[in-house]
Amino acid sequence: MFERCYKMAGVTNLDRVQITPGYGLWTAGIGFQAGAEKLGAMTVPMGPGNTEKQLKMMQDMKTTVLCATSSYALLLAENINGRGLKDKICLKKGIIGSERWGDKMRQRIADELGVELYDIYGLTEVYGPGIGISCSYKNGIHLWDDYLYFEIIDPKTLKPVPDGTVGELVITTLCKEGAPLIRYRTHDLTRIMTGTCPCGSRYPRIDIITGRTDDMVKVKGVNMFPAQFDEVLSAVPDTSSEYQVMIDHLEGKDILTLFFETPAPKERWQDIESQVAEKFREVVGPTINPKAVKVGDLPRSEKKTSRIFDNRY
Ligand SMILES: [Zn+2]
Repeated sequence: MFERCYKMAGVTNLDRVQITPGYGLWTAGIGFQAGAEKLGAMTVPMGPGNTEKQLKMMQDMKTTVLCATSSYALLLAENINGRGLKDKICLKKGIIGSERWGDKMRQRIADELGVELYDIYGLTEVYGPGIGISCSYKNGIHLWDDYLYFEIIDPKTLKPVPDGTVGELVITTLCKEGAPLIRYRTHDLTRIMTGTCPCGSRYPRIDIITGRTDDMVKVKGVNMFPAQFDEVLSAVPDTSSEYQVMIDHLEGKDILTLFFETPAPKERWQDIESQVAEKFREVVGPTINPKAVKVGDLPRSEKKTSRIFDNRY
């Protein structure tokens, strides 16, 4: 299945694949590795961290494909641009997985690295990464339904929802012998995309993962998903893809503080903050406390980035 993912992304046995997800007793790094070996591509098996060495290998080995989480891809992209290495790298494609990410972050990574990005999907319990990937049309993730059976359910009622409605992805393995799973709840929120993809692939599609059922937070009686924070920030000019949400309970009231990064000069921060608050009211509802910070002030991560901190309980 992973070999098929590489092929869907147009990776061939002439590519050099640098793998930054972790190698260990789980499926991440080794999944990327096994797929690339099956395809016959050369691999640069790095694992996470040690940015210095990653950049050196990327130049020396003339890496053409980068496999990473979106947080780490962003960190590498910022480093490559900051050090003026863009002309020295040969990257053409990025295979980015295991984390939900917004359009703005995707655009920044694609622009800064000058590569085409593909979303890979998977979970350790079900073979690991590589049970689906986006195609070059970037409209959802094609899933390998000859190996797995996919359903979308309402996480509260546990009933299947109609195609196109957002719910929790549930997976049944059809061929797995060692540890088969029947109707395994992923806690990933997405929807089945209807119609056929212009790429012509017959494999069905789900939308990009919009969050986790356990990432859902209820503030002032309103359910919120991480995707909504992305949506608000992508609608306001001069905000970056990075944000952090702090939720506190003070004097009987929920208070949500949204920290976001902006490249704008300090005298414009107040104006941008009120635009963010206004947009949030429009898209989500409740009044929030927006706080601008400089680009680079919020933490970056070599693994997955936590963005929502609920301090209420
Ligand atoms: Zn397609």
